[in-house]
Amino acid sequence: MTDTADPAGSLMPAVFVGHGSPMNALEHNRYTEAWRAFGASVPAPRAVLAISAHWYTNATAVTAMTRPRIIHDFYGFPDELFAFDYPAPGHPGVAKLVAHTVAPVWVGLDLDSWGLDHGTWSVLAHMFPDADVPVVQLSLNALQPLDYHLDLGARLAPLRREGVLIVASGNIVHNLQRIDWSRPGGAYDWNDRFDEAASALLGERPGDILELADHDDFGLAVPTPDHFIPLVYVAALAATAGETLDVLVAGPTFGSISMTGYTLGAT
Ligand code: ZN
Repeated sequence: MTDTADPAGSLMPAVFVGHGSPMNALEHNRYTEAWRAFGASVPAPRAVLAISAHWYTNATAVTAMTRPRIIHDFYGFPDELFAFDYPAPGHPGVAKLVAHTVAPVWVGLDLDSWGLDHGTWSVLAHMFPDADVPVVQLSLNALQPLDYHLDLGARLAPLRREGVLIVASGNIVHNLQRIDWSRPGGAYDWNDRFDEAASALLGERPGDILELADHDDFGLAVPTPDHFIPLVYVAALAATAGETLDVLVAGPTFGSISMTGYTLGAT
């Protein structure tokens, strides 16, 4: 974080991160370095509102506990990753603010079911390595269509004037069935095509992000919506502000995943 004072009412940036493997929590590569640089560039947030692909559930909810637990929601990874902790505090006041801000859309306050999953902590471990920024996490309502998420993202926009840093975490292209472990920096053609189409659209007309659902490669790039939906929230924030998204870092991994990330309003 910078030492620069954040004038009351100034507009907090927002970010979409392609989180990829949970191992990124432990690794240092050009993606994690970009996340770290972004975290160091923003005014000190009052709290992070994390929107992770991995809390994809049958309700819209926000974590509202004082001490959110860390969820190791994966298997087959080294013990070191299961031992990893990110003890950021929660912020019940900001959770209530989120619910109030998006009303009349209903958001439940979660006191005991979730916490911080790896879509959140593997990224924040780099963005705010001291775990000193309170974090609340918003669920993705799996029962709702994409346009619900576009609308809800727009409703979150006032939080940017409340010192809340919105960190959305997914992957624009995420097809685990097609993973090619032999190509850590490689991409299938359809991965590149979809990633480039997304980049072109988000750099000009982020409010039209749902047009990507008509792209010829959407079925391969987005076989399930969970990792795509977090990007919809940041696109909605950009459209609401009359802004476009800037590429934070771009590239593929393991053939069928895009690690491309975007910022909104960052310097
Ligand atoms: Zn993931």
